Amino acid sequence: MLITLEGIEGSGKSTLIPAMVAYLEDRGHHCVVTREPGGTEAGRQIRAILLSPGNAGLDPMAELLLYEADRAQHVSRVIRPALQQGSIVICDRFCDSTVAYQGAARGISAKVVRDLNELVLGGVTPDLTFLLDLPAEIGLSRAWRQIQSGDRHTQETRFEMETIRFHEKVRQGYLDLARENPERIRVVAADAAREQVRAAIIEQLALRLAA
Ligand code: C5P
Repeated sequence: MLITLEGIEGSGKSTLIPAMVAYLEDRGHHCVVTREPGGTEAGRQIRAILLSPGNAGLDPMAELLLYEADRAQHVSRVIRPALQQGSIVICDRFCDSTVAYQGAARGISAKVVRDLNELVLGGVTPDLTFLLDLPAEIGLSRAWRQIQSGDRHTQETRFEMETIRFHEKVRQGYLDLARENPERIRVVAADAAREQVRAAIIEQLALRLAA
């Protein structure tokens, strides 16, 4: 089973993963935790290109293709083999990030993004996606606080180079995707208390495992 976490900056995706893993492993599932961009060695090099402040002027199509190159390597070397071995794969960002960031926010045609995703995924699609939703202003101020307190999972980031409007477009892109895929994508209010968000995710996981 492939479970993905999606959301704007500061939505708290990565902080939820340990609780998800603990819940699943307690029930006998083996979990593989990974992320995009940067889930493979080549992917980490691609991530460095994508998130380098010096590359802020990257051509949008070049950016899209780098995300897709990262994903091609990630799917073939990490995700597909883990799924074939029966593991549950938990991925911090996946194909929906590309639809929201490069498509809805950066303005590349939805059809181009979807076609490329389809090509690169080769049938490996998420079974369950948690969309951690909150207003961009709140997410960005959280992300800033995490950076200032040294508490952020990664210091490599480019989010501060974009406007609030850009991040609102990302959020809207995600919400549109959720509306189109109500079976797969569970929208979780991420501006609630951390414990409440965690409980909502675990409840949805339990329902999915029981289905
Ligand atoms: O979630 P994480 O902090 O690892 O994401 C790294 C950065 O990559 C984020 O700042 C996000 O804005 C950016 N990103 C992007 N397009 C994607 C995926 C991530 O711009 N498809």
